[in-house]
Parts: sequence; structure tokens; C-alpha cells
Amino acid sequence: MKNARTPFAFAAAFAGCVALIIGGCNSDGTADNSILKGLEGFGDAGKGLASGLRVHGAFHKSQEQFSSLDEYHVGRAAAAQIIQQYGLYTDDAANRYVNLVGKTLAEFSMMPEVYSGYHFHILNSDEVNAFAAPGAFIFITRGLLRAAETEDELAAILAHEIGHIQNQHALAAIKKSRNEAFVGVLATEGAKTATGEYGAQVGDVLGGMTSDVLATLKNGYSREQESQADNDGVGILRRTGYDPAAMVSVLSKMEKRLKPGSKDFSSTHPKTADRIASIKSAAGGTAQPASPPRQARFDAALRAARAQ
Ligand SMILES: [Zn+2]
Repeated sequence: MKNARTPFAFAAAFAGCVALIIGGCNSDGTADNSILKGLEGFGDAGKGLASGLRVHGAFHKSQEQFSSLDEYHVGRAAAAQIIQQYGLYTDDAANRYVNLVGKTLAEFSMMPEVYSGYHFHILNSDEVNAFAAPGAFIFITRGLLRAAETEDELAAILAHEIGHIQNQHALAAIKKSRNEAFVGVLATEGAKTATGEYGAQVGDVLGGMTSDVLATLKNGYSREQESQADNDGVGILRRTGYDPAAMVSVLSKMEKRLKPGSKDFSSTHPKTADRIASIKSAAGGTAQPASPPRQARFDAALRAARAQ
């Protein structure tokens, strides 16, 4: 289902997705804090900012022919494998809340519009980890939810993952040879129809692309890509009205939960101290204390998910 970007209607193709009600936006482009104080409030002024910010990632030449529908197909297949490996945490309140925070952030990203919208899922795993698959499928583990102690810190983690999406880092993991094969198959077989159905050969190539993406999600992005996601995440937090310094505070808290040598965030991301050093001037040093209403809704929605 295409994201229609009406003021409060968003695609809900997967479990855990909810309608998003977007708040106001100041004339200087920064978000009005009232969005976050009461996620119930809505207005459509924020739409203009988001729609004006769409950017395109740097692709191989052949990737220019890779449509958002293709990206969705690859991402959905990768997401299915991640879900199979980790298992979903299906608590409704927690999923609604994570989606509401995540989709609000996505509105203030450089890529608010994606085929089928953004999907945020909680993985039922103690591992401290998060993934961003193509097609805007974003995963956060319960282990990582426990590291976040405020809504702003949860937002910081999600904003980092949205940073990977808006820079199309996962798509960049697809081998050039596969892109060329994809274009070749499309050209010679006419296998792709206007309705987005694929022939067997296109399916094979997309399957190979999914393997490339999963390998990269497992092994981690480059240092430059991680730094870009951190920096972009700080910008998304600021525009949405969250405390950018929450990016620094949550990184420190995550560091304490990582087990050296384990297959988690520490194995796929650069050293925390380096990450903090490179964003500290942009993010600011000390996170603000959470407002009581914001903390109350964080605690209420995630109490069970964050329990050991
Ligand atoms: Zn990352």
C-alpha cells in the first residue's frame, strides 16, 4: 500500500504499524515541541518540510533503475529472515509506541516517503542490536530497548537507523554485479510487469540481493556510513523536537550493556567513544531530564518489553 501522506493516515501493512498523527512545525523548520508532549495533536504544517527534503542516495549507475518497489521486495525478504532468526516481540502497546515515535521521526528525515511506509518491529532478543533493512523495515531488540531509559533515548536509536535508511546504506551493500544482472534481466526478459510482479529470473536476482543485504546487516556498515547515520540521527532528533544530546547519553548506556566479543551492536558499529567524540559538538553534551508526562508514557508502553 502506498503511503498516501494524508495528515494522519499511514500505511499499516504489517502488524505493529499504527496510524500516525503528525504535529505542527515552526516557521524555521524545527518541530514544535507540542508534537512530543502530546502525540495526539495533529496538523499538516509539518508535511511541507518533510516532503521538501527528499534526497537520493549515491548508487551505482544501474541502481538508478532500482525502483522503490524493488527496494521494498528486497527489504521485505531480508526482514522476513531477520524475524525468523530473532522472533518478534508482539506486545501491542510496545509496538504501537515504538511505531509512533519512529514514524514521527521519519517524517522529519530526509526520506519521509517510502513505498509502504516505515515499519518498526521489536525483536524478542536479549542481544543489544538494531537493524535497518531496505524498504524502511527497522528492528530494535528488547536488549537495546532496555538500554534506552527515556523516550528521547529510544528516539535517538531509531533516528540512527532512519539515518541508514535515508542514505540507502543497505541498498549500497548490493553487489554491482547483481545490479547489472537485474537490469539485464529486466531488459531482456521484460519480466517485470506494471503491477510489480516478477518473473522467476528477476526473483533469483532479488534473492541474491537479499543475501548481500543480510550479510551487510550482520557484519556491519563502514565506519563512514555509521558516522553518517549518527550525524543524520542527531539532525532528525533536533528537527523532530527531541533532545539531540540523547544520542550521546544512549550510546554511553548501550556501551555498558554490550558484551565484548559478542555478535551485537559492538561487532557491527565503531567504538562508542569514537562515535560520541564525532557527534558531541553537534549533539551537545548533557541530555535534558525527561518531562514527567513523556517519561510516564515511555514507562507505561515499554514496561513489559524492557523487563528482564
Ligand atoms: Zn548503524
